[in-house]
Amino acid sequence: MQAELSRPTPPLQAQADVAIADPQRLIERVFAHFAGHDAEVVLTEHGAVATFTRGEAFMQARENGLVMRATADDEGALAYMKGIMASHLIEFAQGERPRFVWTGDGAGARKFPNLHEMTVRRIVDVTPNMRRITLSGPGLDRYVDGGQHLKLFVPPEGVTKPEWPVPGEDGTTIWPSDEKRPKARTYTVRSVDLDAGTFDVDFVLHGDHSVGSRWALNAQPGDIVGVRGPVGRAVPQADWYLLVGDETALPVIARTLESLPKSAKGMAFIEVADESEQQPIELEADIELRWLLRNDAEPGTTSMLVDAVRAVEMPPAGTRIHAMAGVEYAAFKAIRRYWREELKLDKKDVLPVAYWRRGRAEGEAALQDEDD
Ligand SMILES: Cc1cc2nc3c(=O)[nH]c(=O)nc-3n(C[C@H](O)[C@H](O)[C@H](O)COP(=O)(O)OP(=O)(O)OC[C@H]3O[C@@H](n4cnc5c(N)ncnc54)[C@H](O)[C@@H]3O)c2cc1C
Repeated sequence: MQAELSRPTPPLQAQADVAIADPQRLIERVFAHFAGHDAEVVLTEHGAVATFTRGEAFMQARENGLVMRATADDEGALAYMKGIMASHLIEFAQGERPRFVWTGDGAGARKFPNLHEMTVRRIVDVTPNMRRITLSGPGLDRYVDGGQHLKLFVPPEGVTKPEWPVPGEDGTTIWPSDEKRPKARTYTVRSVDLDAGTFDVDFVLHGDHSVGSRWALNAQPGDIVGVRGPVGRAVPQADWYLLVGDETALPVIARTLESLPKSAKGMAFIEVADESEQQPIELEADIELRWLLRNDAEPGTTSMLVDAVRAVEMPPAGTRIHAMAGVEYAAFKAIRRYWREELKLDKKDVLPVAYWRRGRAEGEAALQDEDD
């Protein structure tokens, strides 16, 4: 199987043996689901392999069961691979709760290797509605290259000794009891300072009714929060970039723009409330940055970014492109449809992502999966 895949086998590996009825059908269902989530899936008579950005999932049927193997480049990615394989296996097994234990790398770990407590060090408002919180903690070198995002775990208010999710023997996540259960929210690592042992996260302040925004509004130096990451993929190398987002994607667009070489070309569109929300971005690349001002409109209600995307003149065929959008759900659907179905751009060249959804809290609704 490995010979059919284009990249070398990652160094870390774990395996599990699962007793279950009708394993072939279960494997087909799990891998059909993986294929729908942008994994590259290869099915053969020997089993199935899915290549994700962070590792590989392999499953093979045996008599009355299946064997599975997760491979990845680092411990955090391996724990992630084990988790998605286990949770989808359990989900698609429908009723029959398979019991299994992973062996190999990371076996028996009682903590997620990439989840750490971080401490608030500094709080600065970059603009009226964008608060920069500087955090310190272990393992920051992981955030320099590769995935740019993280999961922030916010403990319930009043909990003085926070508890964090831990991995079960089967790779699934075991959460603390309800009264201590933290809520997870996705944010971007805006910058890392390895010498100081700190990193910055920029929070959009959109009120005190939600977990992430309220935490940022009330944060004080010394506060503790859980951080798991990195999440997501590194910025792909390209000759021409199209970067599109509202203020929630401003941190990732700014970080990407600051990292691109002089030779990179392209366009960036950032929608913000008004001029006071624009911020300086140091840019060497030949990228035209346009700020789109919402003025009196509510966030997530304008078509500015979709219109801007549709008006872009794409570079000639054969140019290596990378187009990303981090926007509200409705704009995400429109941009994804335009790039994939109208322009027929290659899936690997475009990254449309719903960064939030009006009226829904993170985790309440699938942000990417509904093709309605
Ligand atoms: C990969 C990725 C990276 C992200 N990086 C960042 C980042 O660096 N900084 C950042 O601020 N956000 C970022 N986001 C967006 C952030 O995760 C969402 O805005 C999230 O909903 C915030 O959590 P919350 O607890 O404040 O609101 P939730 O509890 O999730 O939502 C509560 C209510 O607030 C609304 N809401 C959520 N976000 C906004 C908003 N921006 N404006 C107005 N209403 C909103 C929801 O529609 C809902 O009605 C990122 C998202 C993704 C997927």
